[in-house]
Amino acid sequence: MDQDDSAIGANPIVWAPSLAPPAPRDMCTDCGLSRTAEAKRCGRACQFIKPDYPAMEARVHGRPRDPARPDEIFFGPFRRMARASLRQPAPGAQWTGITTRIAERLLETGAVEAVLTMAPDPADSWKPMPVIITAAEGMSRARGMRMGYAPLLALLEPVRDRGYKRIAVIGIPCQVYALRAIEHDLGLDRLYVIGTPCSDNTTTENFHTFLALLADDPKTITYLEFRADYYVELRFTDGSKKEIPFLKLPISKLPSDFFPLTCRTCVDYTNVLADITVGYMGGEGEQWLLIRNERGEELLELLGEDVRLSEPGSAGKRKSAVAGFLANTERAAGGLPLRSMPDWLRPIVGWLMPRIGPRGLEFARSRLEMKACETVVHLRRAMPRRVRHMVPAHVWALVEPYGLKPTPDELPRSGTDI
Ligand SMILES: Cc1cc2nc3c(=O)[nH]c(=O)nc-3n(C[C@H](O)[C@H](O)[C@H](O)COP(=O)(O)OP(=O)(O)OC[C@H]3O[C@@H](n4cnc5c(N)ncnc54)[C@H](O)[C@@H]3O)c2cc1C
Ligand code: SF4
Ligand code: SF4
Repeated sequence: MDQDDSAIGANPIVWAPSLAPPAPRDMCTDCGLSRTAEAKRCGRACQFIKPDYPAMEARVHGRPRDPARPDEIFFGPFRRMARASLRQPAPGAQWTGITTRIAERLLETGAVEAVLTMAPDPADSWKPMPVIITAAEGMSRARGMRMGYAPLLALLEPVRDRGYKRIAVIGIPCQVYALRAIEHDLGLDRLYVIGTPCSDNTTTENFHTFLALLADDPKTITYLEFRADYYVELRFTDGSKKEIPFLKLPISKLPSDFFPLTCRTCVDYTNVLADITVGYMGGEGEQWLLIRNERGEELLELLGEDVRLSEPGSAGKRKSAVAGFLANTERAAGGLPLRSMPDWLRPIVGWLMPRIGPRGLEFARSRLEMKACETVVHLRRAMPRRVRHMVPAHVWALVEPYGLKPTPDELPRSGTDI
């Protein structure tokens, strides 16, 4: 990796500046804001303190969620959704590489001078390392998913110091929320935000514990994905693959604090403040795009004929899966969901789920409802006073069919969304 910690005048195309240490904060995923000179901005910019999703969504997309389009209650404002694949999948990409290809095109066409994203840390390829990429050929370094979080927004200061005014940021939802909150203070001429969904993240250290349970030699695992067909896919250094049904994952062997409270309670799964969200949940084996605003359309257009698009499908029914998940989460008393199913039944249910369980958009809706249930259950237990500030009205709408309702003290501060 080309790294340049000090020589600002040099021009490496993948640049990992040294960053200030984080300020101590509870409920923090170190998005990088606390490492900047104006660390006090966390108070108004953090999704874990007093987020205002209705106002931010209306500001970024020009309108709030539309109650006449029920999927917006799940996924946030969008113009259209698509199943998508690059005709030529990019080597090393998490799926086919749409995310990094969009950023490549932004750099190739001169629309931006720099892209802020994560590359693998040279000392641990599963650990994200914030980098500034200034030429399209550098984007291949960022492909693929890392587990953990790293201070992406701390890069905004070196970007400013270099005089870049047109940038793109690729980020996960807790980073994008803070970015949008300070966007207008940055003095940029152009900002493109490419978001990925994010859920069940944890520290890279914790993630290594999980990998150790999945293979005899976890160092040989190069890729992991929780697919929409209820399998985890693993790839190894020798090119081999392994698929494990969700139900057979060794979740019960993980410590109860495996997922930090932040990641069990964050309310933005689908990156609602991005211009375009690039995920897979609603894609039935392909990628899933949510084009949220005009800038998102512009980003998709950059791909031209490189991308194959189709209408997302939807099948199955989610209600019983979500209700079962909620019951398990409540029984787990703050830890990881316990599963009451006997071992002999798991292979059968594991075989049935991809065939009769929720698929396509219905799968994505089920995951949004599960995440919303988790947020309410865990936050009520661990930090009840934050419920009112952190849980917006649209999340209450998602959990309501499962019997979770806000008490008067828990009603959202603004109460104006949906
Ligand atoms: C922790 C985590 C959980 C996720 N969970 C879901 C999910 O439940 N459902 C879903 O639909 N999608 C999820 N995603 C997104 C998904 O894994 C793919 O990244 C996304 O679909 C883009 O695929 P791609 O082939 O276009 O990406 P690529 O072209 O391979 O690019 C991936 C981009 O993601 C960035 N990135 C990788 N790891 C991180 C990280 N830890 N933090 C910040 N940025 C990172 C890379 O720098 C790169 O820019 C998750 C991503 C992460 C990081
Ligand atoms: S804004 Fe970022 S750095 Fe600040 S408390 Fe929130 S997650 Fe942590
Ligand atoms: S799960 Fe939520 S809080 Fe955790 S890293 Fe992802 S977006 Fe951030």
